[in-house]
Amino acid sequence: MPGLLIKHGRVIDPASGRDERADVLIRDGLIEAVGQGLDGSAEVFDARGLVVAPGFIDMHVHLREPGFEHAETIETGCRAAAAGGFTSVCPMPNTSPVNDNPTVTSYIVERASRHAVVNVFPIGAITKDSAGETLAEMGSMKRAGVAAVSDDGRPVMNARVMRRALETAKAFGLPVIQHCEDLNLSAGGDMHEGVESTRLGLRGIPSSSEEVIVARDLLLAEYTGAQYHVAHISTRRSIEMVAQARSRGLAVTCEVTPHHMSLADEDMPPYDSNYKMRPPLRSRGDVAAVVDAIAAGVVDAIATDHAPHAGSEKMQEYERCPFGIIGLETALGVALQVLYHSGRIPLTRLVELFTVGPARILKLDRGRLAPGAAGDVTVFDPDLEWTYDLDKSFSKSRNTPWEGTAFRGGPVATIVDGVVVWRRD
Ligand SMILES: [Zn+2]
Repeated sequence: MPGLLIKHGRVIDPASGRDERADVLIRDGLIEAVGQGLDGSAEVFDARGLVVAPGFIDMHVHLREPGFEHAETIETGCRAAAAGGFTSVCPMPNTSPVNDNPTVTSYIVERASRHAVVNVFPIGAITKDSAGETLAEMGSMKRAGVAAVSDDGRPVMNARVMRRALETAKAFGLPVIQHCEDLNLSAGGDMHEGVESTRLGLRGIPSSSEEVIVARDLLLAEYTGAQYHVAHISTRRSIEMVAQARSRGLAVTCEVTPHHMSLADEDMPPYDSNYKMRPPLRSRGDVAAVVDAIAAGVVDAIATDHAPHAGSEKMQEYERCPFGIIGLETALGVALQVLYHSGRIPLTRLVELFTVGPARILKLDRGRLAPGAAGDVTVFDPDLEWTYDLDKSFSKSRNTPWEGTAFRGGPVATIVDGVVVWRRD
């Protein structure tokens, strides 16, 4: 392998505080050097006018394999990830069978090693079949390669089970990622409960359905001393509680999705299922609170919650449609627009949310551009004008609110272990 020399880019590496014109040399899959005027026999990638960042990590995706390959596979989902600038993804365990034991974990790891163009770090289930009753085999799943545990798609409703899960995960050094939703409060709901749900005559999912689980879990996280992470946080009160827990020194983190930082319930065209997800799009005030929290440093990661559903599933009447949207290919475009072009955060902070932020939570040796680190690099243009065209999407599914949207800023090339796995044409 001749190596890859990325020249003349603006290198932003939040882990080391670097933000300067520099070259990055990758050899044998690893970063060999970062600095000015690098040379050597290597293939040259001209990154003039572009940002060169550590490879982006999406800690929350659904790749649907095994079990739902008609909606997405490890191969197609990872191609979509690469086209979104992601070099690593963490698939949630709600496959069929559920990733609640080392056999399924090993199957995913093995499929990924053969078919995925990006790194795959699976998330294991907290409970068997994610049924919320009996703990899954956390220790053996960790040995098989899971980076964290979660019953995502569902919450752990039983507080006693959650306490045991936190204690067990702590013993194995695994973060616990919670999908915060009290199923009794959210039952039957199709969108955020508020003026809009009343106007449209749809059943509501109240903010409190998220907040009561966040509140309970923060108490349990404090009691057990475990590492706890709130997936797709969406309400002002949830943010306030997490901020307070962090100010008191708890090992608590949270992630925000591109849709929860950009869209409110009132932005949904009536009964458009491409705006239907859990947690639902919240009020304008909640969106503002989420963006404020990102700017204030309360949020650790941007995660897409990429949730493919086959066309036949999404093309039903609104109430019957499944929840979730795809998001890998649009995440950077949305984040740049909402956070950077609006002047809310600098590019270094934006890169942090996609790289060392999630890497720290999951204790992944990724997300930085230091010699010896993995040769994972995301090259992007913060000002590139492009339009999202589903016909060119790598995902098998089409459920997105951003079809046809014109973005300012997006990925240009994705490099995994020193190999260009995607490049904008
Ligand atoms: Zn979820």
